[in-house]
Amino acid sequence: MDLNLLDARVSAERAAVEARGETFYPGPSRIHLAAFPPKERWDDWVELDSASWPKRVERRYMLVPTTCFNCESACGLLAYVDKMSLQIRKFEGNPEHPGSRGRNCAKGPATLNQVTDPDRILYPLKRVGRRGGGAWTRVGWDEALDDIAERIRRAIRDGRRNEIMYHVGRPGEDGFTERVLAAWGVDGHNTHTNVCSSGGRTGYHFWMGLDRPSPDHANARVILLISSHLESGHYFNPHAQRVIEAKARGAKLIVFDTRLSNTATHADHWVAPYPGTEAAILLAIANYLIQHDLYNREFIRRWWNWQEYLDREHKTLYPTFENFEHVLKLLYASYTFDFAAAESGVDAATIRAIAELVASAGTRLSTHTWRSAAAGNLGGWQVPRTLFLLNALLGAVATEGGTYPNAWNKFVPRPIYVPPHPQAWNELTWPREYPLAVNELSFLLPHFLREGRGRLEVYFTRVYNPVWTNPDGFAWIEALTNERLVGLHVALTPTWSETAFFADYVLPMGHASERHDLHSYEQYDGQWIAFRQPVLRTARARLGERIDDTRQVNPGEVWEENEFWIELSWRVDPDGSLGIRGFFESQQSPGKKLSLDEYYGYIFEHSVPGLPERAAAEGLTPLEYMRRYGAFEIASHVGPRHEQAVPPRELVDIAVTDTGRVYTNAPAPPHPNIVPTGSPDPDRDGRRAVGVRIDGKVLRGFPTPSGRLEFFSRTLADWGWPEYAVPTYIRSHVHRDRLADDEMVLISTFRLPVQIHTRSANAKWLDEIAHTNPLWIHPSDAGRIGVGTGDLVRVETEIGHYVVKAWVTEGIRPGVVACSHHMGRWKLSDAGQRQMMATVSLNHAETRWNMRQVAAPQPYRSEDPDTLRIWWTDVGVHQNLTFPVHPDPISGQHCWHQAVRVHKAGLNEQHGDIYVNMSASTKAYRDWLVLTRPADRHSPDGTRRPHWLMRPLRPARSAYRLPDPGEPVGIVGL
Ligand code: SF4
Repeated sequence: MDLNLLDARVSAERAAVEARGETFYPGPSRIHLAAFPPKERWDDWVELDSASWPKRVERRYMLVPTTCFNCESACGLLAYVDKMSLQIRKFEGNPEHPGSRGRNCAKGPATLNQVTDPDRILYPLKRVGRRGGGAWTRVGWDEALDDIAERIRRAIRDGRRNEIMYHVGRPGEDGFTERVLAAWGVDGHNTHTNVCSSGGRTGYHFWMGLDRPSPDHANARVILLISSHLESGHYFNPHAQRVIEAKARGAKLIVFDTRLSNTATHADHWVAPYPGTEAAILLAIANYLIQHDLYNREFIRRWWNWQEYLDREHKTLYPTFENFEHVLKLLYASYTFDFAAAESGVDAATIRAIAELVASAGTRLSTHTWRSAAAGNLGGWQVPRTLFLLNALLGAVATEGGTYPNAWNKFVPRPIYVPPHPQAWNELTWPREYPLAVNELSFLLPHFLREGRGRLEVYFTRVYNPVWTNPDGFAWIEALTNERLVGLHVALTPTWSETAFFADYVLPMGHASERHDLHSYEQYDGQWIAFRQPVLRTARARLGERIDDTRQVNPGEVWEENEFWIELSWRVDPDGSLGIRGFFESQQSPGKKLSLDEYYGYIFEHSVPGLPERAAAEGLTPLEYMRRYGAFEIASHVGPRHEQAVPPRELVDIAVTDTGRVYTNAPAPPHPNIVPTGSPDPDRDGRRAVGVRIDGKVLRGFPTPSGRLEFFSRTLADWGWPEYAVPTYIRSHVHRDRLADDEMVLISTFRLPVQIHTRSANAKWLDEIAHTNPLWIHPSDAGRIGVGTGDLVRVETEIGHYVVKAWVTEGIRPGVVACSHHMGRWKLSDAGQRQMMATVSLNHAETRWNMRQVAAPQPYRSEDPDTLRIWWTDVGVHQNLTFPVHPDPISGQHCWHQAVRVHKAGLNEQHGDIYVNMSASTKAYRDWLVLTRPADRHSPDGTRRPHWLMRPLRPARSAYRLPDPGEPVGIVGL
């Protein structure tokens, strides 16, 4: 970013604000709130101590920024470090953070609860006795590291690299660990994403080659959300504040949500479709735009791959745009308002009104969906695909008030080392049945292990709790307690979890204020980078102390992953003979370990445009700047990057396809993530995709095979799914035609605004606000069953049942029930979190599992007097245990919605009871597996997966080759 331009813009904004008689705040938020301490006074900020009122007692603070870790939004926090005690007194928002602009949700300040949680894990623990037996002994870091390192070293030496797996829940970082695994040469990265956002990602990925939307809500005329986005969606605090700003300026808000969520209450149009029919409504809106010629003709002509579509699917037609328009009208003609109404239960007049509103948005239509319907339904990935179709029809793509591809509003810097792609392919995470899955088939791991597809020598779980979070949790318990399948389970976690109970080592990792990470997320039309840091380390360094190891400032022996991985890697390869150690060595002091100051200092110095200059203007190094302010805005108003002309220096020895895709022999730019235009590896005669030729000019385009927005996906057509090659509607596994008369649909995925999946049981403020998960049920259904609010109901799924309290409400559709997934935390013994975990008994006989709550949380004495004030006893029900796996055959997303029967509970049943039959669990796994179209039979080119599709930790191109017949599955690569 040109600093002169930036300064000029800031000056203009200052003049405009001051002309209104307001005070201008010069930070990225541009918001002047008196509550924000001016950054000039962050070294010595004075406040009156509220607890001492009515006395006026002053407290002096050092304010140190960090980044919240309690959801994926990565909002800025300011830690108030008491200068007397050098302890954190509170967290508030960081006005220097361009995404969150000084604001937080309740979970941000509750970071303090997590830091001071009396039940947190402070020391490395090693299990005693059988795995899962609940007995632990404290060990030193050295002992744990040596044991783990030796096992990894042996696996690598023995050619068993696929037996090393790192399974992450909330990453909270940008690629550090992926590079660790690449340095080890293992294809061992696994994520939680297929129980989360794979459906959302898939729909976007097939359109634009990037897997997330970046809506410019603040400047939109019409905002369409398919989720409860204002209270709990993806990037919800940064997005929610911009949605509300737009509303204040007159923008209209449309919300699809089967529940009357807080978000729905803010909508101008709220519709509650029957679950899984969202795409039918979206296609009816699209059809309205198409049939009434309300689409942006020029945008479609230039940017859709319509020519490729006609060439492939309508060979007899002359490939003119007029012929494409004719085909388009025929293609979607059946998606009438009446059809959508019949499918969704939303009346046709309402859908028409929404369609007219969408049409009025022009290029200022911002849309968003992420989990929600995309994560609930078979074929849910068509929901984002049909949603983005509306943007693509209106040309509201990368426009002011439109929706951007995420990568243009996100910045991933180049680190000090970039290890090569691993020469291996791990079929435990990327099985050949799912060649188009955008993420790992992580939730099928226990089934794959049980089938003998592989085993694990060392299995890391990191901020990940599959026993509780995933469907089919008993399958996880069975796998984790089988030492033949999992040789060593290492849980890297800041807090106790149901999965950590089944570990061999529980290693304490830091919370948001106790670790380093980098973040950059697409939250508006701009790019920023933020720095999470151990705040006490920075505070003490400001006082002149030298801190080399974050354990020096963290409570107990709590560490942080980055230093842990560097240390572990040195122990895996102590003499450098495995070629690993070099990636973790200092460049400044060869032969010594890479320090995090050098690691991040390198990035900020060399890889973040504009940061060195900005820092120098304040007399700081780039690292000092980030330690002081926590965030830096690299660019704002990024604009339509697909329209940028590719400069001649990048057009070297080019090759151009029939459809205009341009490949070059010029080297890749130094910051490849700024403008992704194609797969990172050469993919056509050694050339790399660089742009697309449109109307005689080579423009950046999109990182799809065609370089355009792919209305037609040749990839889907070529890999066995021609019927879904264009955006369409797939009837869900819970479509009414598939349900028996007495079945209902259970929505089990909705978030509560003040809970954090599996990591907020240690946040007392949040627990007091929300601690249970009753079943939302409509009065008509409650009356039929004969229950009222507070009565127990039994919810029967395909593999078992759970018992929960009913909450009778008109805020849910008749025929649909809903239960939030946050609750039902449990522990088997005293070890665990006591504020939100019920103690349970587990019984296992043959294929049957039963769980019963035997003790509720109760007040207890600790160093925190508030633990004596715990008044809640109902901590909900762990419903996910009763769900079978439902992998979508294309996206791989677990389809969360359940067909259930709901009855009044029996006299012997208790709140929290769980029953599961594992035979039914296995059957469900197999039933869904047969829906797939595996690469062995459908790959058009002998590879496992289209190389252009994104993949975390992408292996070397040679590893994409399908193994020869007879080559064993799961032992591919070295
Ligand atoms: S939205 Fe809330 S939980 Fe998420 S990062 Fe921001 S403050 Fe933290």
